Amino acid sequence: MNIVVLTGAGISAESGIPVFRGADGLWEGHRVEDVATPEGFARDPQLVHEFYNRRRAKLLEVKPNAAHGALARLERELDGQLTLITQNIDDLHERAGSREVIHMHGELLKARCRQCGAVVAWREDLSRANLCKACGGMDSMRPHVVWFGEMPFHLGWIERELNRADLFVAIGTSGQVYPAAGFVGAAKESGARTLEINLDPGGTSRDFDEHRTGLASEQVPAWVDECLGKR
Ligand code: NAD
Repeated sequence: MNIVVLTGAGISAESGIPVFRGADGLWEGHRVEDVATPEGFARDPQLVHEFYNRRRAKLLEVKPNAAHGALARLERELDGQLTLITQNIDDLHERAGSREVIHMHGELLKARCRQCGAVVAWREDLSRANLCKACGGMDSMRPHVVWFGEMPFHLGWIERELNRADLFVAIGTSGQVYPAAGFVGAAKESGARTLEINLDPGGTSRDFDEHRTGLASEQVPAWVDECLGKR
C-alpha cells in the first residue's frame, strides 16, 4: 500500500504560522507579486529579505503540532510506504520526526547563491550584505524558496510517486497553487483513492473521493490511527 501525502499551509496553522492569503487577498499585508516573485525581488530585494527574515524568526519560535507528529509516526510504522510532499517552507515536519520530506517549494531555513547555486543552512537574517560562503559572491544570496513563476523542486520524483500511489491524501491545502493542485488528478489517473483533510473545502475538492473536515491537529491523528489500526 503506497500512500502519498501532500501537506499545505493549513497543517502548520495551529502551530502559529499564518496560512497563505488572508481575506484581504494579501500575504501578511503584502501583495504576492511584491514578496514572492523573481520580479518583486529584482525590484526591491530589501523588502523581500525583510519579509522572509520576519517569517524565519517566527518559525524559530514555534513548534510542530499533533498533525505533524502523527505523520512522523505514520512514516516510522509504514516503513517505506509513505511519501510526504509538502508545499510548506517551514521545517515542522522534520522537527516532529519525519525523516524524508519532499520540500517542493524549498526551505526557509536555507539560503541559495544566485551566482554559484550553493545551498546553505541559514537561521539568521539575510541581507544584500551577506557574501556567499562557497564562491564569495557579493549580494548574491536569496531565500531558498520557490517563487511564483519559478519551477518547483523534485517534480520528477513526485510524478513517479504519484504514478504508484494507492492512496493520495491532501492536508490543509487550498488547491489554488499549481502544479500541487493538479496532484490529486494525477493520482486518480493512476488509480489511487483520494482523501482531502481540510478546514474548508479547497479549490479541487470535487476531485476527492472522501473528505474529512476539521482541524488538522484532530483529523490527522484520527486518520493515522485508523490507517495503522487497519493493517
Ligand atoms: P493556503 O493558505 O492557500 O490554504 C490553506 C488551507 O488550509 C485552506 O484550505 C484552509 O481551509 C486550510 N486550513 C487552515 N487552517 C487549518 C487547520 N487548522 N487545519 C486544517 N486545515 C486548515 O495554503 P497552500 O494550499 O499550502 O498554498 C499556499 C502557498 O503558500 C504554498 O505554496 C506554500 O509554499 C506557501 N505558504 C507556506 C507556509 C508554510 O510554510 N507554513 C505558510 C503560508 C504559505
